[in-house]
Amino acid sequence: MSVQLLLATRNSKKLGELQRILDAALGAGSVKLLGLSDVPPYDDVPETGLTFVDNALLKARAGAAHTGLPTVADDSGLAVDVLNGMPGVFSARWSGRHGDDVANLELLLAQISDVDDAHRGARFVCAAALVLPDGREFTVTGEMVGHLVREPRGTGGFGYDPIFVAEGRTVTNAELSPEEKDAISHRGKAFRALAEIIREQLLGG
Ligand code: IMP
Repeated sequence: MSVQLLLATRNSKKLGELQRILDAALGAGSVKLLGLSDVPPYDDVPETGLTFVDNALLKARAGAAHTGLPTVADDSGLAVDVLNGMPGVFSARWSGRHGDDVANLELLLAQISDVDDAHRGARFVCAAALVLPDGREFTVTGEMVGHLVREPRGTGGFGYDPIFVAEGRTVTNAELSPEEKDAISHRGKAFRALAEIIREQLLGG
């Protein structure tokens, strides 16, 4: 049996990552993942939530309402200890320009330039939500703990990856292979937890 599931994103990398995780956890072909470009268009949902879970739920509810499909959405960001968890839900627009990864990273580095090495802790957080057409809702959260370095290093990944070193590592996330990052990332953890909920709820356990 194969079920169709919408991942409410236009990001093809996220689509590929979740499809790989679902194939590995549930068997290849058990779930056919669709992205927003595979369904009739609807207006973008403003991310007005103040938590990652709120925003993931807003996007998943909209997808299920517009398509009638079981819908997954995720929301993620970087929470810096000395900034009391900011940029948090504002990670993608920290510099005021949505999606300007370089400006966001440079502003953050400048803001914590005089913070000593012992106090540069941070974590990536990812909330993922599953909303079913009958209204049932499920949420999971994954985290990757680490610290921020002073100069960007590496060319892989995106966003704040060049300044983040995960616990137990010496290289930045941007110096990890995609597979190494998936294995320890906030999104990898959240998506793997979600795979178990999908198994129980949509594939009959
Ligand atoms: P979104 O959940 O895709 O909207 O991501 C929000 C923002 O958080 C991104 O624009 C990045 O700035 C940051 N972010 C989320 N996940 C990662 C990651 O794995 N690496 C680096 N930055 C990330």
